[in-house]
Amino acid sequence: MSLQYTSTRGDAPTLDFGDVLLTGLATDGGLYCPTEMPELPPLSADMTYTEVALAVMWPFVEGSIDRESFVSIVNDAYACFRDPAVVPIRELGDGHHLMDLAKGPTLAFKDVALQLVGRLLDRELTVRGRTAMVFAATSGDTGSAAIEALANRSMVSAVVLHPLGRVSDVQRRQMTTVDAPNIRNLAVRGNFDDCQDLVKAAFNDSAVRSEVGLAAVNSINWARVMAQIVYYVVGSLRLGATSGQPVSYSVPTGNFGNVLAGWYAKRMGAPIDQLVVASNRNDVLTRYFETGSLDAFDVVPSLSPSMDIQVSSNFERALWEASGRDGAAVAALLTEFRASGSAEVPTSWNDALAETFDAGRADDDQTLEEIRAVHERLGFLIEPHTAVGTVVARELRRDPSIPMITLATAAPAKFPDAVEKATGVRPPLPTFLSELHDRPEYFVEVGNDLDEILVELRDLADTAQ
Ligand SMILES: *Cc1c(COP(=O)(O)O)cnc(C)c1O
Repeated sequence: MSLQYTSTRGDAPTLDFGDVLLTGLATDGGLYCPTEMPELPPLSADMTYTEVALAVMWPFVEGSIDRESFVSIVNDAYACFRDPAVVPIRELGDGHHLMDLAKGPTLAFKDVALQLVGRLLDRELTVRGRTAMVFAATSGDTGSAAIEALANRSMVSAVVLHPLGRVSDVQRRQMTTVDAPNIRNLAVRGNFDDCQDLVKAAFNDSAVRSEVGLAAVNSINWARVMAQIVYYVVGSLRLGATSGQPVSYSVPTGNFGNVLAGWYAKRMGAPIDQLVVASNRNDVLTRYFETGSLDAFDVVPSLSPSMDIQVSSNFERALWEASGRDGAAVAALLTEFRASGSAEVPTSWNDALAETFDAGRADDDQTLEEIRAVHERLGFLIEPHTAVGTVVARELRRDPSIPMITLATAAPAKFPDAVEKATGVRPPLPTFLSELHDRPEYFVEVGNDLDEILVELRDLADTAQ
């Protein structure tokens, strides 16, 4: 029998991988998690990224997909990365390393998961003989990574909303210059919250949802977390696991999807010591780890916009595990949090999380200073999200004899203004994107109005499929 998945709120049907892939949020509002955590198979330091990926992910998908299809999907997904190592590692000094997760087509770590998920989705729909439409709102990296992963797939189309005039030039062009019949970009006259509310309203309308077959690839989709487990295992293999040496990670964190994957890697048996949750000034998680209570606050824009998040949705999965998988207790806690903006987390859960996680913050001034210092000392550029990670890694590292790996979540060229401000050097786009500014853009401007947007969704459903 294949591995089953359970909702964190304990009141939704148990599903297998194929259903979880298509479902997104559970019917009780929870997030799907594996009912059992498989153990890592034997691995060796000379295995390639895709060999490790196949070994680590197979137990999660077995029974929902045949081995041959899975092998070809995994190989395909990582063939487009611009480094043979897929996630190359370089040293910063003092046993502190950077793992570059931004070698994919859109220069951000979202590609690692979405290149795989786009292909898995298309295959699952093909097997079921149906189509689906991904509908998402983006303030930056997710939209372009999703579009790049889904363009020209046969069974899945995508509508992506961005707030008109409020995403960076590079980010907008990465979305709007993709010319594919199954992709539609809508620029909404409103802000990012308006875009998110429009997406939520469509998903909450069951008639709309079934009419166009809405699907979600946001960071709560289990398949994205699964794909991210792989590089935590790869990092420990490259830096010593075979000699029994553990490693630690520092992770620039927003929705908690990335660092959560590290926690799952550890639970599967990867030798991981510490997981450092690094936030910018929007530090809901750092405050939680300091106080033991969750408190919502308003988001303030920062130099690391992909971490400007009020509520880290994937944290629910960690709470569920920390509670001893008590779905009712998790549901009660989160209901209280949504209603009042604040919730006290039980001490035993906090203790379970504090064994592995540490959390810290770096503000914009520290971020710029770090980018400047790395450039001066080592002669290469890092971008703001990564800089938050390296600052907090140094601050919170518990044991200097254990290697620390900070995850570089984007390429400097994706955030050229901040990098130039810090160093005086403007990072150029890689050659494969250098003509981004000359390509025609495809998007439709719409009002902050669901009916207007549904017209576009229906039109794409008719023309794309
Ligand atoms: C999405 C993103 C993050 C945050 O990752 P989470 O999984 O949401 O914690 C950090 N840095 C960059 C560049 C991102 O695109």
